Amino acid sequence: APAAQSATANRCLQVLQEVFGYPAFRGAQAEIVAHLSDGGDALVLMPTGGGKSLCYQVPAIVRQRAGLGLTVVVSPLIALMHDQVGALLEAGVEAAYLNSSLSPQQASEVERRMLSGELTLLYAAPERLATARCMAQLQALYERGALSLFAIDEAHCVSQWGHDFRPDYRGLVALHERFPGVPRIALTATADALTRADIVEQLRLQQARAFVSSFDRPNIRYRIVEKKDSLQQLLRFIEREHSSVVNGQRQHDAGVVYCQSRRKVEDVAAQLAAHGLQALPYHAGLDAAMRQRHQDRFLREDGLIMVATIAFGMGIDKPDVRFVAHLDLPKNIEGYYQETGRAGRDGVAANAWMAYGLQDVIQQRSLIDASPAADEFKQVMRGKLDALLALAEASDCRRVRLLGYFGQGAQPCHNCDNCLAPPQTWDASEAARKLLSCIFRVQQASGGAFGAGHLIDILRGKLTEKVQQHGHQRLSTFGIGAELGESEWRSLLRQLIARTAVWVDGAHFNTLRLGEGARAVLKGEQSVSLKLQTHTRTAPASTARA
Ligand code: ADP
Ligand code: ZN
Repeated sequence: APAAQSATANRCLQVLQEVFGYPAFRGAQAEIVAHLSDGGDALVLMPTGGGKSLCYQVPAIVRQRAGLGLTVVVSPLIALMHDQVGALLEAGVEAAYLNSSLSPQQASEVERRMLSGELTLLYAAPERLATARCMAQLQALYERGALSLFAIDEAHCVSQWGHDFRPDYRGLVALHERFPGVPRIALTATADALTRADIVEQLRLQQARAFVSSFDRPNIRYRIVEKKDSLQQLLRFIEREHSSVVNGQRQHDAGVVYCQSRRKVEDVAAQLAAHGLQALPYHAGLDAAMRQRHQDRFLREDGLIMVATIAFGMGIDKPDVRFVAHLDLPKNIEGYYQETGRAGRDGVAANAWMAYGLQDVIQQRSLIDASPAADEFKQVMRGKLDALLALAEASDCRRVRLLGYFGQGAQPCHNCDNCLAPPQTWDASEAARKLLSCIFRVQQASGGAFGAGHLIDILRGKLTEKVQQHGHQRLSTFGIGAELGESEWRSLLRQLIARTAVWVDGAHFNTLRLGEGARAVLKGEQSVSLKLQTHTRTAPASTARA
């Protein structure tokens, strides 16, 4: 009834104001907290910084006050539990966590408080909940009617299609089976349609109401540049856009630079430091104490640059990160969105900058091919990588593409590179056909496949040692692409890989073969357009078309 609904809404608002000191709910929060307080199930998709925590913290308090007992929050990260419990205690809410950082004495004290009904919120890691001991304790509470709510944070961890699959999350369906009738809320900041369907399926959330917030982060400016000398490009980017002189001192904004490998993280951090920037490395190979120290400094001090693998970032709430830079291609759009999303949580303008090149594409492809995963899994991963490549190669609005991937429509944003400086494009279908024929001829002539560099040498008519050794100067495709530069050919190759016309054979030294998409391009059924590169003043004459 509407009267009951508004009574719930009032109780929620009261908790928000009195306990948390905020005047009003944001976005879908009001609806979510009322739905949950009244005992409904919910699936919440909300971007990072959107305010997911309050979605279960407020109902937890409302329901505890109504005598319904404990809310259990499942969280994958110790650091995150620690921060949240700290903040709740400060607000006067009885909260605690159970995880491997506690001594046995500390843990049994938390268990005592949980069983005595003192606690409003208990945070626990999924593997902890799954223990027979913990399940028995929850059972005791359940039988007394003192188990009020389950909140499953970072719910995408349940899906192997997500970017952070954690097998322990699979076991969480037991909460529903063992304790039917206890409302549940699953929350995530990243879920494409596939992951989302998987969350519903795995956690049996078919009855849950879905609350999907806008994923747009309007203050983030997306930019993807072609990788040339990525370190110099990064330095220029930071100097131009994220440095200032204050009281005669050069200062930099806080930022995160993502690299794929640990070694590169260390290299880049050292290089940035050598250029006078305050940069710290972070990756899973550093010892725990150093990681903690670097993370603490990044959170506390101004103007630090964290150079990190994706091991860094989840659950880190630093509002004034002004830029996130990628020196390597993420695995997929969800990863890209998640990582860039760490910029500008305070709503102030921030940059998401990425340098990427042909080598990234080849490397990511071959990583998938070389992985021991099942074919079905690899196929999904390839599809996800292709979607990211299409975003990277796009000459239209990046935001429209990004949001489109999450099923959200959008208008061109005026805050991405392509909107701000629409690239000129030219029809490169003819050049694409030359490239594909060249791959075909080489394969035919030499039986084997060759890598990108060699194919481009043949197209450009370069009489290298390797070309002569294989007699490739005699191929009909030798020198037919001299009008284009090396970087145009590379960019064309990226496009063709993105649309599966060219296939990178990761098992054979990343050699190139024709892919299933080649036919449509060769037959002229599909056109290929390329961005006009700045050094090419006009479209290359022989390939330009009206
Ligand atoms: P998420 O988990 O979705 O990334 P958080 O729950 O950490 O986001 O919230 C992000 C920030 O927004 C926090 O500092 C939080 O206190 C603040 N916040 C959330 N909801 C509100 C609100 N209704 N009013 C004011 N601040 C809010
Ligand atoms: Zn745009």
